[in-house]
Amino acid sequence: MFIMNLAESTSPLRVAIIGSGPSGFYAAEALFKTGMSVTVDMFERLPTPFGLLRGGVAPDHQRMKSIASAYEKIAMNDGFHFFGNVCIGRDLTIEELRHYYDALIFACGTESDRKLGIPGEDLPGSHTATEFVGWYNGHPDYQSRQFDLSQKAVAIIGQGNVAIDVTRILAKSPSELMSSDITENALVALRNSNVEDIYLIGRRGAAQAAFTQLEIQEMGELDESEPVVPELELNDADRDEIAANNKARKNIEVLERFFNSSLSGKKKRVHVLFLKSPVAIEGNGRVERLVLEKNALSGEAGSQRAQGIGETETLNVGLVFRSIGYRGLPMPGVPFDPARGVFPNEGGRILDEGKPVCGMYVTGWIKRGPSGVIGTNRKDSIETVQTLIDDIPSLKPADKRDSDDLQSLLLERGVKVLTFSHWQTIDKLEREAGEKVGKPREKFTSLTDILSALHL
Ligand code: NAP
Repeated sequence: MFIMNLAESTSPLRVAIIGSGPSGFYAAEALFKTGMSVTVDMFERLPTPFGLLRGGVAPDHQRMKSIASAYEKIAMNDGFHFFGNVCIGRDLTIEELRHYYDALIFACGTESDRKLGIPGEDLPGSHTATEFVGWYNGHPDYQSRQFDLSQKAVAIIGQGNVAIDVTRILAKSPSELMSSDITENALVALRNSNVEDIYLIGRRGAAQAAFTQLEIQEMGELDESEPVVPELELNDADRDEIAANNKARKNIEVLERFFNSSLSGKKKRVHVLFLKSPVAIEGNGRVERLVLEKNALSGEAGSQRAQGIGETETLNVGLVFRSIGYRGLPMPGVPFDPARGVFPNEGGRILDEGKPVCGMYVTGWIKRGPSGVIGTNRKDSIETVQTLIDDIPSLKPADKRDSDDLQSLLLERGVKVLTFSHWQTIDKLEREAGEKVGKPREKFTSLTDILSALHL
């Protein structure tokens, strides 16, 4: 039998990337930048590319969304092919993919959420931030979700930048949202919203808040809403943390300003509460109250933990958003670490019970957990691609050296594969529709609408 040696082969290295978010595109970029002859087929379960950049990054942060133009350039490489609307694990198995590719890179992100594990977490009116963010960002999975914005008081649990995004979207006026690419459906619902008091709740103190300065500062720059910081306690370890940590110092500067300013009577308020943990969500058939326990911090500066002190208080809120971090989901045929919700790996090389799995790699949030900004994924993907390149001498070459019959196989299975050129048409249509109403774009929010616009 002829055994090909990839290190000496003149045939292009064949790589499948599963997921088309930032980490997937940065992995493709890193592969092309090696200067090797390489084919990259990128698989995406949604009909459109860019993952969290399209469906997660806040619609009113358009400057961040403009990174997509860099990904479009990567997609213009001759060796790049986009397979949109193809779900790995459903339309194609990992086993099947391995016949077509020398290496697989998983860049499928963390599509689920951490749980609080408290009574009432699943009451109607208690939602994950993921659902709300997906809904206003036009993610097809979340378009049927309903959020009762007739409520006056809303609690957001967690103080990361996702919690801040949710807060800001609830706090902004309709005219502030008009320059975003928030969906029309969400814009109408938010225009009719009765929300007046938004509680942003952190289990630890101000020095440990996960948000960043620019994001918290924006709470003080909104037309119809103003920030309230009712208490700002700092212990000795907090002061050491602030001295040692720029991010904490900058956050505290903003929070002190909020703490020292008086209310000017705007329509809405964002209450930033520290040292409180939710212990129950209560209500008769739906959310009516959130029970919080007051916490104290213990431990060394830099690793302080929150501990309940047994004192509780009740916040009357009709809506709760849980924003306590994302979690990866398992994929059939890929090792999974259920404790961390990631694919176990070393430098991006997937491990099964501690041993490397030949030809399988991972990058982005499903590699390291849900942390960092978009650019963090670039460094992460460069590391993974370097690991893959180092492994080339030991990779088992794919037995099929092109993807033609993969296309036929998908067609036989009734999968309508969408190409990058399809995406470019959708992108143009969305921008044109947005222009008519003064928005950057009006998104298609379902596969059916996309297929119909493409006459497929
Ligand atoms: P995150 O930054 O990890 O924040 C999670 C928050 O949930 C923290 O405040 C955490 O508190 C809290 N939390 C976790 N478990 C909890 C529990 N059981 N009870 C109460 N609170 C709990 O996560 P994220 O907001 O989902 O953001 C994910 C990543 O995306 C972050 O790196 C973020 O910076 C990034 N992001 C950036 C932007 C931007 O740059 N504008 C926008 C959105 C997201 P502890 O600190 O005590 O654990």
